[in-house]
Amino acid sequence: MADKTFIVKIKRQQRPDEAVRWEEFELRWRPHMNVIICLRDIAERPFTREGKESSAVSYEANCLEEVCGACAMVINGKPRQACTALVDDLEKPIRLEPLTKFPLIRDLQVDRSKMFEDLKRTKCWIPIDGTYDIGPGPRMAPEKQEEAYPLSRCITCGNCLEICPKVNANDQFVGAAIVSQVRLFNMHPTGAMHSAARLDALMGPGGIEDCDNAQNCVKICPKGIPLTESLASVNGQVLRHAIKSFFTAPKTIGSAAPEG
Ligand code: SF4
Repeated sequence: MADKTFIVKIKRQQRPDEAVRWEEFELRWRPHMNVIICLRDIAERPFTREGKESSAVSYEANCLEEVCGACAMVINGKPRQACTALVDDLEKPIRLEPLTKFPLIRDLQVDRSKMFEDLKRTKCWIPIDGTYDIGPGPRMAPEKQEEAYPLSRCITCGNCLEICPKVNANDQFVGAAIVSQVRLFNMHPTGAMHSAARLDALMGPGGIEDCDNAQNCVKICPKGIPLTESLASVNGQVLRHAIKSFFTAPKTIGSAAPEG
């Protein structure tokens, strides 16, 4: 009996300024294949369906267990991780495209630095680094830990940015992932000491006010992170912070009273 095969269509570009071309590859089906295995098969034998010699497809991947976030791409029109996209579950032909909200490097590989830069800008870390003994950290109630844990599962894949209508070339919205990390670090007893700086960073352009509440992010997140809760929670924090800052900011004197 002939081998069972299926078709994978891939959007390809050598460079961002090069014209797009679509290539189709016919691959031999085996049990438990995922999209990464498809891309490896193509790399081993880079011939298109028409028999034309092509080249290995460029993509990013690392852990292959939906932890690193690197293999995010648009699969059959939806952003998701290639490592957990099983061939048997996908409609054929399988269509692979790069994420569109990040600069393209080549083929399916994009540069997700924007997310990491935004995490830095919003101070999404807890400053405890050092070689000195800082003693035990503050305790966190189990209920708080349970609330925080799902947020800590973010893999910075960028799928929530890809699906968000407010993340585009004309808007600067940081995206739900970043807002959710601000919530996580503000929730931590040590992280809370720097919450004002994080909220300040979300008050300007690209901040929380730019969210249009489309709620696509929460549906697409591979880790089931309650992103809409995070957006609502941080929105409230920013609002309270803005009111507090307004009343506690030193007042400037408009005009000095005449002497005499
Ligand atoms: Fe990916 Fe979810 Fe994190 Fe967004 S919040 S980057 S979709 S894991």
